[in-house]
Amino acid sequence: VIELDESGTQLCGMRAPYHSWNMTASTRLGAVEGGGTKFRAAVVDAVSLGVLDELRVPTTTPAETVGQLISFFEGHDPVERVGVAMFGPVIVDPDRADHGACGPTPKPGWTGANVKAAVGGGGGGGGAIRSDVEAAVVAEATLGAGRGHRGVAYVTIGTGVGGAVAVDGELFRGRDHTEIGHIPVRRSPGDDYPGRCPFHGDCLEGMASGPALQERWSRDPQTLGDRPEVWSLEAGYLAQLVRVLVYTFVPDVVVLGGGIGTRPGFATQVQAAVTKDLGGYSMSHADDDRLVVTTALDNDAGLIGAALLAAS
Ligand SMILES: [Zn+2]
Repeated sequence: VIELDESGTQLCGMRAPYHSWNMTASTRLGAVEGGGTKFRAAVVDAVSLGVLDELRVPTTTPAETVGQLISFFEGHDPVERVGVAMFGPVIVDPDRADHGACGPTPKPGWTGANVKAAVGGGGGGGGAIRSDVEAAVVAEATLGAGRGHRGVAYVTIGTGVGGAVAVDGELFRGRDHTEIGHIPVRRSPGDDYPGRCPFHGDCLEGMASGPALQERWSRDPQTLGDRPEVWSLEAGYLAQLVRVLVYTFVPDVVVLGGGIGTRPGFATQVQAAVTKDLGGYSMSHADDDRLVVTTALDNDAGLIGAALLAAS
């Protein structure tokens, strides 16, 4: 769905009905995706969501990184609103005084840092914030692999494991963003890896994140392509989360993203494990071989989600 127009501008999508307020072609929006290793910021056209200019900077200290974001936006005509997709944990409860701030994070200096407050009002308009995974599920539901489906779940497997659910294009959320990467998992027979989640040890993230793979197999996961047992074990753990999603939210599709989630053939492996795990017990998904799919937005789901958040 990423298209290039004649001028080479990358378009996030076509004119779409989710623009509920009156915008003209000259309206500019800001989008920020805050990741653990890098930040991306973009000025986008409010109607087409075409990216007009983009900045990528490493995630260092809040003062330095956010300062670069502010300079970037100050170098352009004012934007109407800024949408922020932020690495978790982030305080998304709008009733809290610290709405938008980073929750407790091992990343030095970032606990309490508030990117939304710093850049959200910089354009003279309002700002809005979601977790990066929440932004990604809305992007997938609106413009990506979940397009045309009512219920969409997104699961990212990379440095961590995270997930979110959207229904009819709207994010499903309680008081905080979900933390479904931390569900307990049933240990695979013969697997004696202790897990590495600092809170739970052998939760899903502790057993199946990229760093867990690295530690378990003593190799960079990127170099484990010749070890099928690695990926069948990994797919078995991820299938347990998909099974939970099927029995709780009953999405139409579960979209996989992240460095491990987008590995060629991985969604098919997870699908096979899910079908086995469901044991025939699901009205819609017992024999559904298209429940688990790969992201259609590659690494842009978070940034596109931030643009959609600014436009909504
Ligand atoms: Zn955990």
